[in-house]
Amino acid sequence: MLSKRVRNLKPSAVMALGARAKKLKNQGVDVISLSLGEPTWKTPESICAAGIQAIKEGYTRYTPAGGSEKLKQAIISYTKKWLGLNITSAQVTASIGAKFILFSAIQSLCNPDEEVLIPTPCWVSYPSMVELAQARMVPVPTYAKDHFKLKSDILKKHITDKSKILILNSPNNPSGAVLNKSDLMSLGKVLIDHPQIYVLSDDIYNHLYFSGSMAPHILQLYPDLKDRVLSINAASKNYSMPGWRLGWAVGNEELIGAMSKFQSQSVSCASSISQEAVAYALAQCDKELEEARYNLIKMKNLALSTFQKIKGLEVFPPEGAFYLWVNVKKLYSSSWKKGMINSSADFVEALFQEKAVLCVPGEEFHYPGYVRIHFAVDEQTWLSACDRIESFISSLS
Ligand code: PMP
Ligand code: GLU
Repeated sequence: MLSKRVRNLKPSAVMALGARAKKLKNQGVDVISLSLGEPTWKTPESICAAGIQAIKEGYTRYTPAGGSEKLKQAIISYTKKWLGLNITSAQVTASIGAKFILFSAIQSLCNPDEEVLIPTPCWVSYPSMVELAQARMVPVPTYAKDHFKLKSDILKKHITDKSKILILNSPNNPSGAVLNKSDLMSLGKVLIDHPQIYVLSDDIYNHLYFSGSMAPHILQLYPDLKDRVLSINAASKNYSMPGWRLGWAVGNEELIGAMSKFQSQSVSCASSISQEAVAYALAQCDKELEEARYNLIKMKNLALSTFQKIKGLEVFPPEGAFYLWVNVKKLYSSSWKKGMINSSADFVEALFQEKAVLCVPGEEFHYPGYVRIHFAVDEQTWLSACDRIESFISSLS
């Protein structure tokens, strides 16, 4: 009965793991979920107040498919301030989270069999989005020795005449790697030589950067690429608003127009209430952005120092986002109560069954051997999780 397309589709592993943890918690199991990537701190008060005010003032109707003019103006000012670009409202579209923005960009750009270059490890949903567009994912590996940064010579080797899109995601989910100016300079040079390639720059963690208020961006270095680089962002991570479901993109007018058309025939528009709240956040909440960054840096320092002490694990120090990317290969061939650990998926399952700590195996990010551990939780939760992980590892034989 179901279409082949949907039969072959995998559910999002992080959403599934998040739901698994919530279900068990509701049944009274003492689960520590370090799987679903969302800040545990609340949306700042003043942004919530802007949302409530929007309801009271009657912002409860459809908006244009690409978002209200007020939100677009806030995105235009944000883009000028942070990326130094002057854009018009025809170059902005907003929708239901960065996820739907990415989905509609891939649908709007790809013909069947065209290739999408995706540096790995990569966020769980990019490959499925490419598959749903009947395009082809081309994994471009990054390596620990390069701090999981995409290298221009490796990128070059994967480009063919079918290459249509390159996805950049810096700070990166899951590795926490950040492309610095010199990495971006080298990648930009390759892109200049391949004018058929569009870049989807997934900037969703751009302010969750540990060395400054925003991670370096390719458009700051190569503003002339602006017609081929779609900058994608959302309020979900930076402003702790994942449930408000509001993301946006700025870029080439033709592509933005196509995405807005696609949205008008699929989801109509993002929530009018969220649009008002995010317009407020973008215009008024730089202080809250800095506070979130400061909290996160504190948690990152704690996460790293506690994890580096756990024997058997090798931790990659993140430069942004809120994940630890941990090599578990040294634990291969050890055994627990119910079997052996021979993969990162085995490690995650055994840890969950033994200690009720849930994280995400590297297999889901096209990178076996590693595990993603979300650290934007409160200190107490983190310390308990570390105790459990340490005790699990010492129980292995
Ligand atoms: N891109 C990356 C790299 C992500 O980690 C996520 C997860 N939230 C998204 C996009 C989707 O974001 P949103 O919740 O705004 O749809
Ligand atoms: N991006 C988050 C994660 O990787 C949330 C889940 C999702 O958007 O799919 O955990």
